[in-house]
Amino acid sequence: MHYNVAVIGTGPAGLSAAITLKIRNKEILLLGNAGLSDKISKAHLIRNYPGLPDVSGEELAKNLKNHIDSLGIQITEELVSTVYAMGEMFSIQTKSNHIYEAKSVILATGISFEKPYPGEEEFLGRGVSYCATCDALLYRDKTVAIIGTSPKEEAEAEFMAEIAKKVYYIPLYPEEVSFDKDIVVRKEKPVSISGSIKVDKLIFENDELSVDGVFILRDSVFPQSLVPGLTVDGNHISVNRNMETNLKGCFACGDCTGTPYQYIKAAGEGNVAALSAVSYLNATK
Ligand SMILES: Cc1cc2nc3c(=O)[nH]c(=O)nc-3n(C[C@H](O)[C@H](O)[C@H](O)COP(=O)(O)OP(=O)(O)OC[C@H]3O[C@@H](n4cnc5c(N)ncnc54)[C@H](O)[C@@H]3O)c2cc1C
Repeated sequence: MHYNVAVIGTGPAGLSAAITLKIRNKEILLLGNAGLSDKISKAHLIRNYPGLPDVSGEELAKNLKNHIDSLGIQITEELVSTVYAMGEMFSIQTKSNHIYEAKSVILATGISFEKPYPGEEEFLGRGVSYCATCDALLYRDKTVAIIGTSPKEEAEAEFMAEIAKKVYYIPLYPEEVSFDKDIVVRKEKPVSISGSIKVDKLIFENDELSVDGVFILRDSVFPQSLVPGLTVDGNHISVNRNMETNLKGCFACGDCTGTPYQYIKAAGEGNVAALSAVSYLNATK
């Protein structure tokens, strides 16, 4: 299915963009988390959202959910791994290996304070991957390390163990890990990834593993890895006042574009990005 606009992210920025686009009768695909954003639900008391004085994060999330439901906006629960600009279309690939197409894209992915590992960006596509489901077959009978940031990534390691010769699993969370399959669990923090043409090592402070591939399974993707060719400034996406990025038809809004990190700034930018996307679609009809 082809969409007018794909909105990536279900925080205030993405939801605001989706609401405006829906009101402007655009075919939208809203990709993200059915539970909206942890940054909404975890807020204890919000005192600066106009019209909703002293609202709790949970209440704000409920209001936002009611608002999108009332407009018939559905969330497609997917983590987007890559967005490719392909001339007049964008191809949007997800972690569960689905591909969607849209004429325009709005990035509303929030901000992650994690930093990529040294070597991660250099070896992306040359041994570093963010998606076991997508790339596992490239590692048949090989040795791979999987860095998991939450217990839900353990299923990816089990899947990988059916294909690879040896799987190391490195959990970056405190919960106990146990597998039915033959997977070696290493509870150490990786410090870097190295190699020459392709990845050959995952390095810890006092040790290293010889591997053919490193899978890094996070809940978010760095903007420069998410959209190849996107101009970024540190970990923020560069935009102008119309929320246009350097890529035609690609807009960004909310925390991912920079400070201040605030709900109303995110929602306001979502509205601007949506209206800019509408103008873009009208101009390219
Ligand atoms: C505890 C806490 C309290 C706060 N209190 C206040 C306050 O009182 N007032 C205020 O103004 N601000 C407050 N903030 C800041 C506010 O939460 C953020 O500024 C706001 O949520 C930013 O909205 P956003 O839509 O840009 O990003 P987010 O809310 O971070 O939403 C981003 C969304 O994108 C999704 N996503 C990310 N990557 C992908 C991907 N690759 N594919 C699909 N989906 C993806 C995420 O799952 C998430 O749903 C608070 C923040 C916290 C953490």
